[in-house]
Amino acid sequence: MAFHDKDIIILGAGIIGCTIARTLLEKGFNVKLVAKHLPGDEDIWYASNWAGALWHGARDLSANYKYLQTVSYRRFMNDYKMDKTCGVCKVRVQEYFDEYPSDDDLWFRAVNSNYEELESHYSGNYAFGCEFDSVVIEPPRYLPFLKNQIESLGGQFIRKEIKDIQELYDEFGDSMIFVNASGVGPKYIKGIFDPDSYPNRGQNVLIKTRTDYAVRRAGKEYTYIIPRPMSGVVVLGGVNQPDQTHSEVDESIVKDEIRRAHELAPDIVSEDPEIAGIIVAIRPGRKGTFRLEKQKVGHRYLVHAYGTNGKGYAYSYGIAHDVCSKIEEIERDCCTSV
Ligand SMILES: Cc1cc2nc3c(=O)[nH]c(=O)nc-3n(C[C@H](O)[C@H](O)[C@H](O)COP(=O)(O)OP(=O)(O)OC[C@H]3O[C@@H](n4cnc5c(N)ncnc54)[C@H](O)[C@@H]3O)c2cc1C
Repeated sequence: MAFHDKDIIILGAGIIGCTIARTLLEKGFNVKLVAKHLPGDEDIWYASNWAGALWHGARDLSANYKYLQTVSYRRFMNDYKMDKTCGVCKVRVQEYFDEYPSDDDLWFRAVNSNYEELESHYSGNYAFGCEFDSVVIEPPRYLPFLKNQIESLGGQFIRKEIKDIQELYDEFGDSMIFVNASGVGPKYIKGIFDPDSYPNRGQNVLIKTRTDYAVRRAGKEYTYIIPRPMSGVVVLGGVNQPDQTHSEVDESIVKDEIRRAHELAPDIVSEDPEIAGIIVAIRPGRKGTFRLEKQKVGHRYLVHAYGTNGKGYAYSYGIAHDVCSKIEEIERDCCTSV
């Protein structure tokens, strides 16, 4: 069978698996996604359904990581331009810094348009404030959009949970390339068992209010306010609880997130807002950073792309393009070394 005729098997159908699938299909590869959870599912272990999700240029990044995030921004912005119902919205972001940022902290000025520094801050409590355009993604709308895109390009979804990576090799005996985009799965899947993977519980409050502004505080408190303009709600966060996996709502976190959001942006979040829902979900944490590498396993390749923790949307298409390049390198080696 010719190289390009073989199916590439992707384990995982969250934002990472789906953006990889779409990118590979656009390049002409055949793709099958195998996953326990698929777009449309609501399970706390399916992180992608619950993200905020604001594109935000993180601090302290290498040039390569900045570029991965930049690629994602370009792709989300393009979806926004092409289809206003896809679940991507353009918003204005206000960011407040507890300490004066370095030039490097503000690297995103090259990505986000209409950047400006703020002269008057909400409370005057911050060392620096700025404003810029960005995108938010509403996962319950965007994931089904991606599923449609993938299926219309010929990709197939197969619902299945695996316990051992060997199950995939046995079921797809003709395939040579497997992509591991299983989120926190590698902590539990035999044949991978990654000791650096860990579940990182998040809990957010959804409130009923309308705004086109996202607000973030960078520094002492991890606080964000993310609008979902298509749904008339705003997401308040956040909290990181490494190694916690319970699904029950912690009321003290609800109160604390509302208090912090109100302090940050009192004109968007009142002291006692109308709560529209609570989100509880498990982020795919990984000590150090996410894993993005190609591994040779016998005559097969396993390309790892998992562990994006709280930044999976921001990195998604960048990771997908990198995985695609790795697979094209394999194609080149296979088709030219006769
Ligand atoms: C509350 C919250 C807010 C967030 N906000 C943001 C934000 O504003 N911006 C941002 O960029 N990111 C945000 N994130 C992070 C983002 O959601 C994650 O980084 C991202 O969703 C991870 O995607 P993933 O595809 O790797 O994992 P997942 O979405 O968890 O998908 C994993 C896939 O692998 C499959 N799988 C796993 N194990 C197995 C198995 N054994 N057999 C078969 N299938 C398996 C699952 O079924 C699923 O399909 C947030 C997360 C949370 C929880």
